[in-house]
Amino acid sequence: MDFPFVGGHEIIGTIVALGDKIDKRIWKIGDKVAIGANLSCKSCYQCKSGNEQNCEYFNHTQDIDGILYKGMGGFESHIVAHPNIMFKYNQITPEEATLTEPLSCVTIVWIRQVSN
Ligand SMILES: [Zn+2]
Repeated sequence: MDFPFVGGHEIIGTIVALGDKIDKRIWKIGDKVAIGANLSCKSCYQCKSGNEQNCEYFNHTQDIDGILYKGMGGFESHIVAHPNIMFKYNQITPEEATLTEPLSCVTIVWIRQVSN
């Protein structure tokens, strides 16, 4: 792993500033958001078929735009996030919102129980 590295992938926060190119009709200072920081390659079959959670080349060493260090950056006090990876929330608690990322990338596996 390359350092400096800032881990943490169940990211939630409050927007404190907006860049010039951000659509102000959609995003407002004070909006509560969950961040989908994903280190998938965006190029393999799994990524292109909407299954980024199963990326064949998931890589902790790649950069995410706006995050200054390697890693998903959840332990930073502030991060810059592209709107493409932000999801507003307002009717759940922050604790519940932290589950957005882990619940978005679980894979359901059906297991048939076999009795002896
Ligand atoms: Zn991939």
